[in-house]
Formats: sequence, C-alpha cells, structure tokens
Amino acid sequence: MLIQSEKYRLSKALVSLKKEEEAIFFDYNFPNPLYFSRGKQIVEEFLAKIPPDGISFGEILNPDYQILLELLVQHGILLSGENLSRQTKSCSHECGSSPGEINCYLLLSQYCNLACVYCFNGDESYSRMEKKIMTQEIAFQSVELFLKHLAPQGHLNLIFFGGEPLLNWDLARLLLKHYGNKELPDGKKIHFHLTSNLLVFPDGLVEDIKRYDITILCDVDGPASLHNQTRPCAGGFPSYDRICRNLEVLQKNAIPYSLRATITKSNVHAIEEIVAHHIALGSNVSSLVAINPITSDETVLPVSMLPDPKDFTKGLLQAYQKKIAPANQIFPINQMMETFKIGGTMQFPCGAPQGTTPTVDVNGDIYPCIYFVGISRLKWGTIYDTGNLYQSPLLGSLKSETSLSNQENCPTCPWKYFCGGGCPVKRVLIQANPQASEEIKRYCHEITCLPSKVIFPELIWEFSRSQHKKNIQNAPHEICH
Ligand code: SF4
Ligand code: SF4
Repeated sequence: MLIQSEKYRLSKALVSLKKEEEAIFFDYNFPNPLYFSRGKQIVEEFLAKIPPDGISFGEILNPDYQILLELLVQHGILLSGENLSRQTKSCSHECGSSPGEINCYLLLSQYCNLACVYCFNGDESYSRMEKKIMTQEIAFQSVELFLKHLAPQGHLNLIFFGGEPLLNWDLARLLLKHYGNKELPDGKKIHFHLTSNLLVFPDGLVEDIKRYDITILCDVDGPASLHNQTRPCAGGFPSYDRICRNLEVLQKNAIPYSLRATITKSNVHAIEEIVAHHIALGSNVSSLVAINPITSDETVLPVSMLPDPKDFTKGLLQAYQKKIAPANQIFPINQMMETFKIGGTMQFPCGAPQGTTPTVDVNGDIYPCIYFVGISRLKWGTIYDTGNLYQSPLLGSLKSETSLSNQENCPTCPWKYFCGGGCPVKRVLIQANPQASEEIKRYCHEITCLPSKVIFPELIWEFSRSQHKKNIQNAPHEICH
C-alpha cells in the first residue's frame, strides 16, 4: 500500500535492458525484475521525468501512471526515503550454525584407473603410486560427524568420490547397507551419489544403484576422438568404448545418469557437439566445466591446455540458443536459471565458505571443497577433531576471501547476486601461487565472469517472458504489464 504523500526516488542501482518494445528493469542490489512486454518508451519517459527529490502518489493524476508507480515501487525500482539507505542482502547462513543441507564428498580411493591430462590430483598430495583407499572407520566416522552437524530435518548428500570410487566400492556398500534404510534421528535424511569414470563396473552395481536410489555423474569429454585425447586409461589405452558399454548397462536398466565434459583447448570449439553427444548417450544433464589450471600440488598447468574464455562462453550460449538440449539439461545454464527463480540471492558463489561441501580425504583430513584436497593451508580439520568445525577460522577467512564485496570487479556488477562471483577455487588457489602468470590469473577471472556477463542477460529475457506468459494464463481477466 503506497502512502499518498511519500516521495519515491529512482534507485541508484537501476539496470534497464531493452529490446524493441520490451524492457526489463531491476535494482541490482535487490534484484526483483519488472518486465514490460510492450510500452518500453512510456516507462522510460516516466522514469526520466522523476525529479531527483522524488515523486509522490498524490502528484500523479492519471490512473495508468498510478498503477505504473505502484509496480515500480513493488519491484524496488522506486524507493521511499527509508528504503534508499537499505542494506544489501545479508548472508542467510551464519558460520557456527547447523546447515540444513550438506554435500559431503568421501574420497573412497585416491587411486584412479584413468590418466586424464588435466587431472587435478597432484602426484605428491594424492600419492598416486601408493593406491591409498579410505578405511571403514574413517568412512563411518565421517558420516556420523556430518550427520551430527546437520540441522534437524536436514539432508546429507553423501557423494562417493575419488580418485575413482568404484575401486573401493566394497566400502561404499558397507555405508549403503548401514545407512540406506536406516531411520535417522531428528528427521535427517541421507541421499547417495556416485561420481565415477565408469571404467569398471563391479558386480551388483546395478542392484546397489536401484536399491539405494543412487544418482550418477560420469565424465565423457565428447565423442571418442575428443574424449580419448584427454581421458586415456592409466596404461595409455583409450577409455571411451569401455565407458560407453557401462553406460549402456545403466540405460538398459532404466537408471538415469548425467554426463560431464571438462572443457579444455582441445574441445572448446565442440561444445554444441558435446552437448548433443551427451544427450545421445542417454544423459539427462550435460555438464560443461572449464578446466581448473592448478593441481592439488599447486602446480600450474600449461596455458596451452586452457580454453579461451570467449570460446567457452560462445559455446555455452550457442548450445542454449540453438536448443541443442533444453536449458534445464545443460549445466551451468540450468543452475543460472535457478538463481532467477530464487530471486538472485547469491552472497557467496557456493557452499565452500559455508562449510556445506566438505570433502573427506582417505586419511580423514577434511577440506571445504574437493579442489582444496592436499593443500595444507586450506585444510579445515580432521574427522577426529572434537571442536565445532563450523567455528573454524578457515571458513571465516574463506568467507571474507570469496565474499562479493571483497572482489575487485563484483560490488557494482549488475549480475552480482545472480552470479555470486563465480566459483572461487581458481582465485583462491592462484592468489598466493608464485608460478601463476598474469595470463593464468586473467583466465581464472574471465572463465567464471564472462559466461555470467553474457548468459545472465540472455536468460533474464527468457525467464521474464515465461513468467509473463504464466501471469496471463493464470489471471486472464487482470491487466498484465
Ligand atoms: S559477472 Fe563477473 S563481475 Fe559480475 S559478479 Fe560475476 S564474477 Fe563478479
Ligand atoms: S569452490 Fe568452486 S568447486 Fe569448490 S564448492 Fe565452490 S563452486 Fe564448487
């Protein structure tokens, strides 16, 4: 309800996007986009006439403009005095509290049967030659630890990870058997997920997946010629055919799965082809993730392996625009769409600074993100620690290091609360790395920033138009803007 005499002023953080007759307006500090399917010019003229000290409802005599004023106020584009100095969103999860959802990565095996050219697992920190696997004691203690930290009614997503987790599948089976059908206290729930290269397929895996509703993510870097270049077997042989045979087994048993490609210089020009290939292989989501240029030993990979961020962005955009697969089946497009649905609330790029993506190494060491494993300065604790992990100073410093307000270019970026600053892993890992050249640093920034700046504006149009359509369908007798 508007106050007749209250003066409303134009937001200083106004973003306006225009296309022919259409327009979208929002305040980037409190994004709540307002879409006009037509009449762009009328709105622009109205906004242009608002004096610096504002306009009141009582000053407007035309009822159409009164409705317009009301809409602009509702969407935070015009602000009353008290709202002009409103603070930007605050973090919804305080360190020290119990998260409602935890994605816990268990490194069942550090050892892997592939030899991917971009493998993140450094020889030293992953002791690859020693073929280390997690013990039963560490696995169970990890689950108990994060169940304890989980809020009542919360969800623990237990992710079997590696190296290659299927090389220690017997351990996963013990966890499945114990927790799979167990009623947990306080209404807590466990969901199981397997991230695997699927080069091997242990007997009984189909039954395990079905019985415990395990979701699956497997890596395929494109058709055979591309995939075999970057993901050969540890002995140097191609891996594509064996992986596809195992995917067929899943398909025959009606088990859904997602496929992911790591994007490097060698496949960045084939993004559309990769998405189409993933879908043809039966994947329900095609994930495209740009290569991380630093290993867990903090060794920087050669620049010659990195995709040009412009090519990566162009590939994503074209896969989306040409509808190679529906937007909800292409990652990160689907994730970006989700942020519109929740209204742009990303204070932080992900769960790592909040402690909601813990990764437990084979020896029980805990890190806040899978990419931090083996890096001692980023170790969060161990499963044997008795204190409250969520009060660790590491989370505090990660929060400050990754917070939007502390990024060089983000505080005044119109997409900041949709983007959250992008995955900070590359930034966190290169900052103190003397090997990292300016080129690597530029890559680390652009590979997360450029897709956001190009794709969010595209998606906001689709999102706004589809919302508008729904509004018309749901309220056929009301006036829709
Ligand atoms: S788009 Fe770029 S500048 Fe904007 S918030 Fe994301 S990373 Fe920061
Ligand atoms: S830092 Fe990056 S990889 Fe790690 S949890 Fe966050 S978004 Fe994911």
